[in-house]
Amino acid sequence: MRIPRRLLSVLRGEGPFLIAAHIDPDGDAIGSSLALSAALEAAGKKTFLYSRDPLPKYFAFLPGRKKFTARLREIVEEDPVLVLLDCNSPERAGIEGRRFRKAVVIDHHETAKEFGDVRWVDHTAAATGILVYRLVKALGGRITPEIATNLYTAISVDTGTFRYSNTSADVLRVSAELVDAGAEPNRIADHLYETWEYKRFRLLVAALNTIEVRDGVAVIHITKKMFRDTGTSAEDTEYFSNYPRMIGSIRIAVLLRELEQRGWKASLRSKGAVNVARIAERFGGGGHRNAAGFKTTSDLKTIKDTLFQAGRRSRR
Ligand code: 5GP
Ligand code: MN
Repeated sequence: MRIPRRLLSVLRGEGPFLIAAHIDPDGDAIGSSLALSAALEAAGKKTFLYSRDPLPKYFAFLPGRKKFTARLREIVEEDPVLVLLDCNSPERAGIEGRRFRKAVVIDHHETAKEFGDVRWVDHTAAATGILVYRLVKALGGRITPEIATNLYTAISVDTGTFRYSNTSADVLRVSAELVDAGAEPNRIADHLYETWEYKRFRLLVAALNTIEVRDGVAVIHITKKMFRDTGTSAEDTEYFSNYPRMIGSIRIAVLLRELEQRGWKASLRSKGAVNVARIAERFGGGGHRNAAGFKTTSDLKTIKDTLFQAGRRSRR
């Protein structure tokens, strides 16, 4: 995973930089963006951080998070260089239809568009946080405790805290260096996994009660009514797709969440060789081999039938 020279020269060049995370931002998108912003600012550059959607509340512990804004207009007036992080198209960041002086993409998704003047898309990287770590080092920056906490969180989230198949020796080495630089594994894991509100647990119970297991696929779903009844919202479903994944015999785990407007958001997780990015692409979504997603206006039964069919095919 060589860093493109042009990427280094753009980031060493004139700012300001508009760092944009993807819609429904996750820990990798948020942590990587905050880390890159801190590193560029330490090098004297001006940066803006953009997220169309609010940050989930359990990322409130991340240093620098208040720098994120959803207001684009004033930023665009400063003629920034766009840096897309953990995504590779303006649509995924929710900024389509704008023009930028220059656009840079730093990402690790398999589903990649051709957007950008300089692109670093390495789908062998476990997290965008790993790429940003290499970048900060290559730019000669110091890994401060703030940067370390953000990058360690990014890597944690995308590796299921070092349990998914993307957890390599390299991932652990980088993470160990981040701990040396000030990231605190226990504190970060507490924030990610052990700070639930009780209502979130009640939502999980309701979701688990919907489970269907067939053809190597386990599906749970959450309706708008369940959100209403428990006083929860979409951000409370983060991590839920991991529960059906715990069943030993399944190859694909799915969480379906009913959308406010119409249709469903799917989160797919797979074990081993089954590529859920390919399944998500059929619905206009995308992602990685073992973690992908899509949004669709199809009804629940049609989605589930398609998923069970994919499960049957994956057995062959
Ligand atoms: P999650 O299911 O946790 O939302 O996302 C799992 C992975 O799939 C993440 O890497 C995420 O970026 C990607 N992903 C989720 N939804 C979509 C989508 O609608 N389109 C694309 N291209 N990727 C998605
Ligand atoms: Mn990621």
